[in-house]
Formats: sequence, C-alpha cells, structure tokens
Amino acid sequence: MTFVPSALLALFALVFGGIWSTCRMSMFDRKGDFLLFYAASFLVFGMALLSQIAHLPPDAGLNAVISGSLYIAGCLLLVKGILARSGESLSVSFYASAFLAILIPLSYFQYVDNNLVVRIYLLNFGMGAIFLALAVRARFLRHGTVPDRILFWLVIALALHFFLRTLLTVGSVENLPHVDPLDSFAASSFWVWSKVSVAVLGAVVGLGLLTVSGADIIIALRGERDTDPLTGTLNRRGLDTYISRLLAKGSQTAVSVIVCDLDYFKSINDTYGHAVGDAVLVDCARILMKSVRSTDLVARIGGEEFVVVLPGMTVENAYVFAERIRKAIQNRHFDQMDPNQIVTCSLGVTKFRKNEDLWTAAKRADEILYAAKKAGRNRTYAEGIAA
Ligand code: GH3
Ligand code: MG
Ligand code: MG
Repeated sequence: MTFVPSALLALFALVFGGIWSTCRMSMFDRKGDFLLFYAASFLVFGMALLSQIAHLPPDAGLNAVISGSLYIAGCLLLVKGILARSGESLSVSFYASAFLAILIPLSYFQYVDNNLVVRIYLLNFGMGAIFLALAVRARFLRHGTVPDRILFWLVIALALHFFLRTLLTVGSVENLPHVDPLDSFAASSFWVWSKVSVAVLGAVVGLGLLTVSGADIIIALRGERDTDPLTGTLNRRGLDTYISRLLAKGSQTAVSVIVCDLDYFKSINDTYGHAVGDAVLVDCARILMKSVRSTDLVARIGGEEFVVVLPGMTVENAYVFAERIRKAIQNRHFDQMDPNQIVTCSLGVTKFRKNEDLWTAAKRADEILYAAKKAGRNRTYAEGIAA
C-alpha cells in the first residue's frame, strides 16, 4: 500500500509518455512535446514521494533536501508543460529563482535551524505559489476553448489545495512531542494525509490533464477537417459547419455573401508554375482574412474561388467591402512574378433570402460573378446595384 501513490504517479508518467510518442509518430510535428513535460513531472513527483516513503537517502537532512528538490522540480515541469501546450513559456530565470527561493530556506531550516513545521509550510506554500504564478501567466486560458478553461481551473484548484491541505493538517505535526524528526513526521496524521491526498491529487490532476489532452486532440482534428491546408481558410465542410451555426442563431439582420474568383489564374500557373500559383492563392486568402471581422467567414471552395459570408451586412456595404478586396489584390505585388504582372479577381455579391441555404445563395453570387467575368473581369457586380 505504501508505494501505491508513487506507482500511480509513475503510471500517469507512462501514459503521458505513450501519448507523446503516438502523437510524434502520427503527426510528425513537435506540437505534442508538452506531453513529455507532463510525463516528466509525474515521474519526478513520484520519485519525490518515493524518496520520502522509502527513506532514500536515509540521512534525514539529505532526504529533506533531495525530496524537496524533486517536489519543486515536478511542479516546475508541470508549469512548463501547461504553458508549452499553448505555445507560451516563462524565462529560465523564473524557473531557477522559484527553485532556489524554496530550496535555500528549506535547507536552512534543515541544517541551521532544524524545524520540520517551517519546512512543511515552505514546501507546500511554495508549490502553491508556483501554481498561482502559473494561473496568472496562463490567465488567457479563462477565455479559451472548453479544455483551456478546464485546465485553468485545474491549476487554480491545484494551487489552493497546497495551501488548504497544509493549513488543515499541519497542526498534527505541531502537536507531536519532538522526538526524532523523521519518526515524528512519519507518525503524524499530516504525513498520512499527505500520502493519501497526493494519490488522490495525482489521480485527479492526471485524469484532468488526460481529459484536456483528449479534447485538445479532438479540437485539432476537427480544425484540420474544416480547414483548407493550403490557405488556412475554411474549406467547404468547415463553411457548412459554421454557416449552419450562424443561421441557427436566427440572425434577424441581413447576411451577405461574396464569391471571389481570381482572373486568368490558369495562365499564372502556366507562366510561373504551380508553386507560384499556390503562393498567390495563399496571399489572396491572407488579404481576405485580414479584411474581415471576427464574425465573418472566409472559405476556399474551389481551386481559385473564395466565399466570404458577412453577417449583419447589407448588399450595399458588402459591395463596398468587395471593392476594397478587389483593389487590395490588384495592388498586391508578388515577388516571384514579373513586376508588370498584376493579379486581379472578379466578385459577385448577393444576400441570403429568407429560409435560403448557403449554396443556393452562393450559386446566385456565382451567376453574378459570371456576369462580371463576361463584362471583362477585374470588377465587382452586386445584386440590385447597377454596374
Ligand atoms: P477565369 O478568369 O475565367 O476565372 O479564368 P481562370 O484561368 O482563372 O479559370 P479556369 O477555371 O480556367 O482555371 C482555374 C485554374 O486554377 C486551373 C487550375 O490549374 C488552377 N488551380 C486550381 N486549384 C489550384 C491550386 O490549388 N493551386 C494552383 N496553383 N492552381 C490551382
Ligand atoms: Mg478564375
Ligand atoms: Mg474558378
């Protein structure tokens, strides 16, 4: 029974290591590397506990310093992992100073002024403070995805637990007669409760992190499914998903649709090659995405054809917006092409009619676009607006 908490922590280390290596093999990128920090954190925490339980090393002073170092390192590895998950980090000096700020006084209250109770406060409040610092640094998670928010509150709970548990149980150490410090500590209900709560906490944090990681993977896969890999805009499927959400909200205001098709794109490919054609598509998509509001949708629905959905915008305003896009693309200079070569596009604008689905509206916009093409290209035509 004594070794169960350490074994549990080691098991979580194995699980996170396993998920990390699976991600590494299947995705060929380093996005899952934060899982390795989770694994290391659980492993180091398990070692810290083991060193206390098994009296390794047996010397009381050395044991306090080594197990203390491992506990702090375990916390800092978790901090590093949680931040790395969001592509964030803290400076090396933060990690070094947090480590020393706890370890130096811990050693003082072991070797100079031996005081177990102070050491317990130092270590536990120190670990709590580390997680509070993480919560401050990662406060952006509060406004993120559902897994982001779960993670944020998990960090808060973890931080508070270190303060609460210590305050609730340290009395049992204080009240013990001062015999051999290691024995009195081992006999205290603080230590018994510590072992139980580390096991429970390890399981809660481990399962919490596993849930968050699972949800992260689902969200990432869904994002990949809905995104055009070349340009980063939505693809057809993504547009379908988002538009049904938008229309389900029962928007009372106008929703405009623009279809934008690059002119003579085939000849750009033929003259400069497919790779340059791709770069032009990426650039045009960027112009579109930079121009829209956060509520608008941009999708690539064909080779060189984009759809923009603008909720709350009249056809008149959408026409003005489309003209801005057209001019921005026309004025864009492409390094890989002849300086005199300009890329142009034609646009068709319409608005959703009552109870109409996206593709019916887009087909109408496409017909308007076709008229713009026939009229000579590099122009915007809009429903109800004279050309
Ligand atoms: P128009 O002005 O009438 O629209 O003429 P266009 O040449 O742009 O239209 P057309 O439909 O004849 O040709 C579209 C070209 O777009 C043909 C195809 O090779 C190219 N294309 C489609 N998808 C991609 C892509 O992902 N990358 C690149 N580089 N080219 C693409
Ligand atoms: Mg075209
Ligand atoms: Mg086309």
